[in-house]
Amino acid sequence: MTEYTSYDLVEWGQPFERRRNALPEPSGVEVLVRVTAAGLCHSDLHVQKGYMDLGEEGRLTFAERGAQLPMTFGHEIAGVVEAVGPEVTTVTPGQQVLVFPWIGCGECEACREDRESDCSSMRIIGLKQKGGFATHCLVENEKFLVDIEGLDAADVVPHACSGITVYNALEKMGALRDGEWMAIMGCGGLGMNAIAIARAMGFENIIAVDIDDAKLDAARQMGAVKVMNSKRDDAVAELQRLAEGRLMGVIDTFGGASTGRIAVRALAKAGRYVVVGQAGGDFKMPQVWLPQKAMTVRGSHVGNSPQLRALIDMVRAGKIKQMPIERRPLSQINQAVEDLEHGRVTGRIVFQPDQDDE
Ligand SMILES: [Zn+2]
Ligand SMILES: [Zn+2]
Repeated sequence: MTEYTSYDLVEWGQPFERRRNALPEPSGVEVLVRVTAAGLCHSDLHVQKGYMDLGEEGRLTFAERGAQLPMTFGHEIAGVVEAVGPEVTTVTPGQQVLVFPWIGCGECEACREDRESDCSSMRIIGLKQKGGFATHCLVENEKFLVDIEGLDAADVVPHACSGITVYNALEKMGALRDGEWMAIMGCGGLGMNAIAIARAMGFENIIAVDIDDAKLDAARQMGAVKVMNSKRDDAVAELQRLAEGRLMGVIDTFGGASTGRIAVRALAKAGRYVVVGQAGGDFKMPQVWLPQKAMTVRGSHVGNSPQLRALIDMVRAGKIKQMPIERRPLSQINQAVEDLEHGRVTGRIVFQPDQDDE
């Protein structure tokens, strides 16, 4: 075999296109992975559209962020090692691995401390480098592979993005005291995993918030103790009531004007609002609330390689409840994008590129 198949974005805002490419041969510490699972993340939809909404600041295009087309997107990647470069020592062909996609520059202080997500020159796999919407993916260094031997690739692949993103955010938010509550806003792939991982980390008082009752039912099954449909007019008061006046944390996995507005109003004094979702737009709040309510508003961007290893250890220990996974052929990627866009997906769509007959 000398060629492989990928589904690439060739033009911003257009459907993904099937392309055939020359199969790369790994050199040095590179590893060629045959992809068996590739998760579809909401950010793939933002990328396809070509820009993010910055509210009053206008738009940020992915071209401005350094992404060039045609590109193979997909950053939740797992598979089987197919070939290794001559200097590879830690993985062998046939081994099942998960790819850490949030690669940094490798040279700055953040990268040297394995805080890749704080690097300001990231070279993300599936954005700046070819990703997992393909039958094969070349990973530049064996150190970005995590052993998942014995686990189901499709089940664990969302941890490479949604998992570490919420894990990082929950670590930043810090522990709650008895009687304090946390809200997880947005119950898509990120939100589902946020509930599962929060429970695994010992958080119990979790209120799931979404605008879709079916997603709220799923959130309850993942371990949310209370749920609230935020379409109601009195969402702020209701959220405060559910939290018994002690809403100390909000993890916002949607990240839009609507969720920001509710979060900063519902939080109790000294509450923390951590945003990881990137729906876009902007929200306003009285600036005096920051001192008067001793409020923390902070963001958290994806996660770091040690966190991915820690998460997989938690999966192996049976601590993390499995979120719903919908397995689909990669050839149906454009239909999947449409379904995700219209909120018709509970949990995560994971493509299985090796199941396509081609
Ligand atoms: Zn993602
Ligand atoms: Zn760096």
